[in-house]
Amino acid sequence: MPRKPPRLCACGHRVASGVRCPCEQKRDRERKARFDKTRPSSSARGYTGTWEKARATYLRRHPLCVVCGARASVVDHITPHKGDQALFWDQGNWQSLCQHHHNSAKQRQERRTVQET
Ligand SMILES: [Zn+2]
Ligand SMILES: [Zn+2]
Repeated sequence: MPRKPPRLCACGHRVASGVRCPCEQKRDRERKARFDKTRPSSSARGYTGTWEKARATYLRRHPLCVVCGARASVVDHITPHKGDQALFWDQGNWQSLCQHHHNSAKQRQERRTVQET
């Protein structure tokens, strides 16, 4: 069987048939890294730079705690998202809270969860 001739990669490299050009290997790695970053494998991945930006924007528009009117520092999820991305990013499910009321809201949610189960 005759050997297949080397092909010319888009980057200008001549590559043996069936072999990935270094530039393609690099692209593969980058694509995989991007995929790893966007994979929603844990709720912690939701708390990224994107969330920080969205949170800051929301706090600028809703600067006061919805409970006491003090300056809010936390964007709280009204319904706990528990890793649900749709619920996590739904601004209708967000509320601004001061640190104090954020802490008491969390305690209330934990009690409710205990009662439900
Ligand atoms: Zn190449
Ligand atoms: Zn408050």
